[in-house]
Amino acid sequence: MSISQESLFKIALNLEDPWFIVSIDFSAEVKKLDIHIDFKTGSKFTCPKCGKQGCDVHDTIERTWRHLNFFQFKTYIHCRVPWTDCADCGVKQVKVPWARKGSGFTLLMDSMIVLMAQHMTIKSIADMIGEHDTRLWRVLEHYVLEARSNEDFSEVKSVGVDETSRAKGHNYVSVFIDLDKSKVIHVCEGKDASTLDSFKTDLELHKGSSENIDNFCCDMSPAFISGIQDKFPNASITFDKFHIMKIMNEAIDKVRRAEQSHNALLKKTRYVWLKNPENLTTKQNETFRSLKDLRLKTLRAYGIKLALRDFWNYHNPIAAEDHLKKWYFWATHSRLNPVIDCAKTIKKHWNGVTNYIRTKIDNGILEGTNSIIQAAKDSARGFRSTKNFIITIYLRTGKLEFDLPT
Ligand SMILES: [Zn+2]
Repeated sequence: MSISQESLFKIALNLEDPWFIVSIDFSAEVKKLDIHIDFKTGSKFTCPKCGKQGCDVHDTIERTWRHLNFFQFKTYIHCRVPWTDCADCGVKQVKVPWARKGSGFTLLMDSMIVLMAQHMTIKSIADMIGEHDTRLWRVLEHYVLEARSNEDFSEVKSVGVDETSRAKGHNYVSVFIDLDKSKVIHVCEGKDASTLDSFKTDLELHKGSSENIDNFCCDMSPAFISGIQDKFPNASITFDKFHIMKIMNEAIDKVRRAEQSHNALLKKTRYVWLKNPENLTTKQNETFRSLKDLRLKTLRAYGIKLALRDFWNYHNPIAAEDHLKKWYFWATHSRLNPVIDCAKTIKKHWNGVTNYIRTKIDNGILEGTNSIIQAAKDSARGFRSTKNFIITIYLRTGKLEFDLPT
């Protein structure tokens, strides 16, 4: 049994009647493969607007699509696309089965771009396939918007919000995550209270309701707090324990820096105090042992941090609050100003801190998401716009379902 190369490619491209392959041209010198497709003379087509079958062809237009490479051959599909003449809708361009409307890529090419973009930078994909990255961004934007339009947020109850930036200190975006599903569900520009407005609108566009949101997790930024209180009156706020521990760690570091100016033993010990004891390296452990019996302010601050850390492990709200009250007394009587400031910040946000014992929610997932975002940022250097940065966040952390052939 023999099979012509035209038939072989017809199978590979999954083409059905009336479409057929006219010719296949290999150009070895320029490593190019051109596949010419046509439709059988006298074929009738479905009107792309109203779906009426059996419309006559009014005219045709020559079009070209970039397809997946066959080995190292850049592959193009060429076809005269018919225009149907529908009695109701007039003259319309037929939808071809291998590409979406208006795209210069085939669906399989789209598929590959979307798949690769979840793991690679757009710039490196552009270099690899020899296309301008703005063409790829357009493809990605289309699929992200389409996949997001099908999202259903009716079950969303617990939300974490945090900010991140496209470049250090610039172009902030706020990232909203469904804490139950660990997926990013909304990203918008800015880090002020208006971002809560943007989230609420988007939530309601996807069958969600602001009244359904029971819990919000965020840092202690006044913008997020006021935005949540304003737009999500049913939600109780839990302050993210990682942010709180970060404030405590910053306090320790301030104490250490002040103390090391007259105690050289503390030089280069920064991470000994910032890490948790169980995560210290052998060398850091030795340093810690050599310092632990000295009467150091840094050590006192460190002990206060460990006591704060114990708070998160409680399950009984009364016992937990009792612990935090004792901790507060200790911290505020430490005579260590940065530690006292930290304790006062916690006092000021008391309910949102103690809520943790009941809700047990934190933005740890977001921290993980941030590292994915960070990796994309470090390697890309070419988002071109905040819009593209947002597309990348959805692509990598949105757990979207793309409607694409595989
Ligand atoms: Zn029609």
